[in-house]
Amino acid sequence: MSTSLEQAGPYPPGRWRDVARASGLLGPTGTVTQTVFAEMTQLATATGAINLGQGFPDVDGPAWVQELAVDAIRAGHNQYAPGDGVPPLRRAVADHQRRRYGLDLDPDTQVLVTTGATEAIAATLLALAGPGDEVVTLEPFYDSYAASIAMAGATHVTVPLVATPAGFRLDREALRRAVGPRTRIVLLNSPHNPTGTVLDADELAAIAAAAREHDAIVVTDEVYEHLVFDDARHVPVATLPGMAQRTLAISSAGKTFSFTGWKVGWLTGPAELVTAVRTVKQFLTYSSGPAFQHAVAGALADDDAPRALATSLAARRDLLCAGLVAAGFDVTVPRGTYFVVADGAPLGFADGWDLCRRLPDLAGVVGVPVSAFCGTDADGDPSATARALASRVRFTFVKREEVLRDAVGRLAALRR
Ligand SMILES: *Cc1c(COP(=O)(O)O)cnc(C)c1O
Repeated sequence: MSTSLEQAGPYPPGRWRDVARASGLLGPTGTVTQTVFAEMTQLATATGAINLGQGFPDVDGPAWVQELAVDAIRAGHNQYAPGDGVPPLRRAVADHQRRRYGLDLDPDTQVLVTTGATEAIAATLLALAGPGDEVVTLEPFYDSYAASIAMAGATHVTVPLVATPAGFRLDREALRRAVGPRTRIVLLNSPHNPTGTVLDADELAAIAAAAREHDAIVVTDEVYEHLVFDDARHVPVATLPGMAQRTLAISSAGKTFSFTGWKVGWLTGPAELVTAVRTVKQFLTYSSGPAFQHAVAGALADDDAPRALATSLAARRDLLCAGLVAAGFDVTVPRGTYFVVADGAPLGFADGWDLCRRLPDLAGVVGVPVSAFCGTDADGDPSATARALASRVRFTFVKREEVLRDAVGRLAALRR
């Protein structure tokens, strides 16, 4: 599919090429392609299909939190916020980490408010990793990881999550091979997008041990910390023995409270590491959204809002999973996040890209191929993990129940 960017060449040299290559957006003939999300959203718009590809809520967060933002604007919180975030939010983050996880943080030196989790991830990688350093992530991985690692000029090494009867689990042998003397950062994501895996105690302990052995920093993307289901429990790596002093944790009010457009995130950890990240972050955005920061400070004091969201998401997960199974997919039931991975192989689709491009016609629904969250090998071909997960598709269930019911009804057409 052609895009405005593809027509604009020839393109200038620059670091952006590394970013494009790392993100799979640089074609073999030098063309620039759009992301899978843009392609699938265009497809949904063009065909009238239900877009379960892009993972943002179709219902905004609580009205009382919205009122807090309006109040904050009226109270005059409209000029630059402090570079490390407004004090009430830094205090609310420290309180939250103590109340929920027993972690003790100084709000003045160990908390940094960021422009979403995305900026926290980018600033952390730019601050702490560079040429010659390796950054280890799980695979599949969130798309900004590869881009930010490329911006930092570091090398991306991956550890696959492997499909098992117990869900997508960490490959321990691959972890041992991946983490070594060149590892600067282990960048983790649990609860995990796109698989819905919540890493268990043994997996977390193995990662922590590898990081300690090779003196690596652990960066944990915990944006789905409150969106866990059934008896799954989110355990921050910083709570494991000896890990608080080498772990930076990243959260997002966008995910926790369904305000993705507010772009309020934060990072917590030891003062020296937070200082290093703050030094870079202040020259990225400096700061943003003071009124939203004040509103999130109020929201964070309340544990009921995220709990209510998790409860309603669990029901919507069950609805979509049942529909996918009825349609003939093999479904891995997620323990967290708002995504489910379904395997199109039983329906005769070996390639998730092919399935996703045809799904609007076949069933009026859009998803995204899981292999879009995977890397390439040295030759630019799909990685081993991309090939192993080739037939899988990610669908979101952070949509209203009636939208999901409609989608489930449409998906039934695949069986006919
Ligand atoms: C959505 C998401 C982010 C980005 O969070 P923002 O606060 O919107 O920047 C980071 N990591 C993962 C895994 C996500 O799903």
